[in-house]
Amino acid sequence: MSSQSIFSLLPSVDTLLQHEALVTARVRYGHEPVKLAARSQLAALRTELLSDSDLASTKLKTLTRESISERIVQSALDTLSGEFKPLLRPVFNLTGTVVHTNLGRSRLPDAAIAAMAIAAGDAIDLEFDLRTGSRGDRDSRLEALLCELTGAEAATVVNNNAAAVVLLLNSLAKDKEVLISRGELVEIGGAFRIPEVMESAGCKLREVGTTNRTHARDFSAGIGDNSALIMKVHASNYEIKGFTSCVPEAELAAIAHAGGIPFVSDLGSGSLVDMSRFSLPPEPTVRETIEEGADLVTFSGDKLLGGPQAGIIVGKAELIAKIKANPLKRALRVDKTILAALLSVLQLYRDPGSLPLRLPLLQDLCRKPEEILALAERVATPLRGKLAEKFAVQVVEFKSQIGSGALPLETLPSYALQITAPDKAPDSQITALAARLRELERPVIARLSAGSLLLDMRCLRDELGFVAQLDQLCVD
Ligand SMILES: *Cc1c(COP(=O)(O)O)cnc(C)c1O
Repeated sequence: MSSQSIFSLLPSVDTLLQHEALVTARVRYGHEPVKLAARSQLAALRTELLSDSDLASTKLKTLTRESISERIVQSALDTLSGEFKPLLRPVFNLTGTVVHTNLGRSRLPDAAIAAMAIAAGDAIDLEFDLRTGSRGDRDSRLEALLCELTGAEAATVVNNNAAAVVLLLNSLAKDKEVLISRGELVEIGGAFRIPEVMESAGCKLREVGTTNRTHARDFSAGIGDNSALIMKVHASNYEIKGFTSCVPEAELAAIAHAGGIPFVSDLGSGSLVDMSRFSLPPEPTVRETIEEGADLVTFSGDKLLGGPQAGIIVGKAELIAKIKANPLKRALRVDKTILAALLSVLQLYRDPGSLPLRLPLLQDLCRKPEEILALAERVATPLRGKLAEKFAVQVVEFKSQIGSGALPLETLPSYALQITAPDKAPDSQITALAARLRELERPVIARLSAGSLLLDMRCLRDELGFVAQLDQLCVD
């Protein structure tokens, strides 16, 4: 048969599109992408045959009209599944940081994920009052729950805590002074620096005291005609140690109120329950902060709260009303799926005792060291088998961090797999192994430390999945 005739075996794009597998693919990926993939795979095969006549004649002996179609369909499907692979991928967070900002912070409870899916896929009564049939308030359900959980008079929510701080400052202190201790002029990460935040919110920063010591009298003396607020920023990611002094919240509130201005506190993580009831290091709760006299408190939805990304503001009704009236509030408002998830997580807080069972963040934070050790020992065996002569694998004691600025100096006892290269091996072998682990179908993110690789087992939930994909790990 001449090479001409093999081309006569090539199907048309229209014929390919009738192939059962591509009909199914059209439902999944849409008509146009499937047509494009079929056309380009057909063209690729034609080019291949044209450029190599030997290939064409060899192929000719083995190929039939059907098998050519099958080939093209298969490669079109492969291209499509590559093109439509989700661009955000699940990873194993074995970094030792539970609330890891770069890995998406908190995992959400199933109930919250289900609530998000409903809000995403259906029309919902987001800003609609079902009783009267007229327009409702997007914040109302949230406000009721937050007031119950914190003792505040009113509440609102925006995109994240950075937005909450900017909105608060812009609503209550535009063109005015905000008093803040020098020791709290911090950078929180991701370029969130308090002095710059103040400036972008249109406020004037009035630094009070010194880096290590600030006294009540510094604040009293600092209040003037143009003062709008006293602000406290929770030391998220650092601690000043040694000869230090700061003014307790209750005293700051009293000074602010004597000067006729509000006292606001940015808790950062903030918690709605006392963490020590779960044997975790204590963190100031939002309720305590309000009881100590804060007029407004801001905190994140996805740090210690264990919910979706959000910035929550609770406090005095009159101040929240001013914040809600700011046009910026509209620009910073949360999406319906986030609201659905946040409401669902807050509902869990109505029964704090059950949180370690129901909230993934607390499941991870409260995981028992014995359980983590047993897991580490089980996983060590197949990992050793895989890494064989090249690396040593040991189960070692480890300290997990909560992360995202929550309790930066407190750690939770855990166990990790420590992978080390044989003596004298260059660090590059460990770095290369870390890269191989990230290339797995579900990338494994470990921690590089002093020439070894540490895999904290605290957050490993899918043990079977982790072990199964070790087969794919290539160790060179
Ligand atoms: C984390 C943090 C923020 C920023 O919160 P996001 O929710 O990440 O925007 C602001 N203030 C403090 C004190 C923080 O710890």
